[in-house]
Amino acid sequence: MNNTIAVNMSEVRARMMAACTRSGRNPEDVTLIAVSKTKPLAALQEAYAADARDFGENKVKEIVQKAPAMPSDARFHMIGHLQRNKVKQVLKHVVMIHSVDSVRLAEQIQADAAKEGIDVNVLLEVNVAKEESKFGFMPEEVPDVIEVIKDLPNVHICGLMTIAPFVENPEDNRPVFKKLYELSVDIKSKNIDNVTMGVLSMGMTGDYEVAIEEGATLIRVGTGIFGAR
Ligand SMILES: *Cc1c(COP(=O)(O)O)cnc(C)c1O
Repeated sequence: MNNTIAVNMSEVRARMMAACTRSGRNPEDVTLIAVSKTKPLAALQEAYAADARDFGENKVKEIVQKAPAMPSDARFHMIGHLQRNKVKQVLKHVVMIHSVDSVRLAEQIQADAAKEGIDVNVLLEVNVAKEESKFGFMPEEVPDVIEVIKDLPNVHICGLMTIAPFVENPEDNRPVFKKLYELSVDIKSKNIDNVTMGVLSMGMTGDYEVAIEEGATLIRVGTGIFGAR
């Protein structure tokens, strides 16, 4: 099957649209990120031909290889845990780092971004469900963390990201998405300089429709577009 990726993309787009309609949201406010980790360049090119422009990767090595090989209007998002010694390599290839999970990482991004003379858009990863196995800040520590990161002049907090638990029934993750949304509303209401909360990165193949209903602006879909990894 040659056009599987294109067919999958149109199915995901149709479901996104339906979720927007159900929840009274503007479809333009929700962006699909095609999570292409582990997939070969040919798969990304196929998705690009089906109008994918945003790609999610979780390894610096893959971003550094794939980003320069794609058309220049393809945007790459770093969605995986980022080691501080790899920040410098990845900065110029990504439009956003979704996975800021420590103050030290944010400080490293600041140091490398200042050297390059660039600004970096980031999201704070929040471990909403408090899973042992996951990276991310605990929800209750986010306000204090923001008080530190807001003062890093080249690092702009644009919103929050979460990786919800693996569940059979996507409805089980609704409270997780609601909680991330509520946290973003609380933070937004403080009107902190250098911090905006317009972006909520939440929802994957199994639960993106529920995430959209609860306010996601970026959804990260891998398996649903590229098939099993
Ligand atoms: C792999 C991955 C995804 C996509 O997962 P699927 O279930 O394949 O859609 C989304 N977000 C993150 C952070 C990932 O690592």
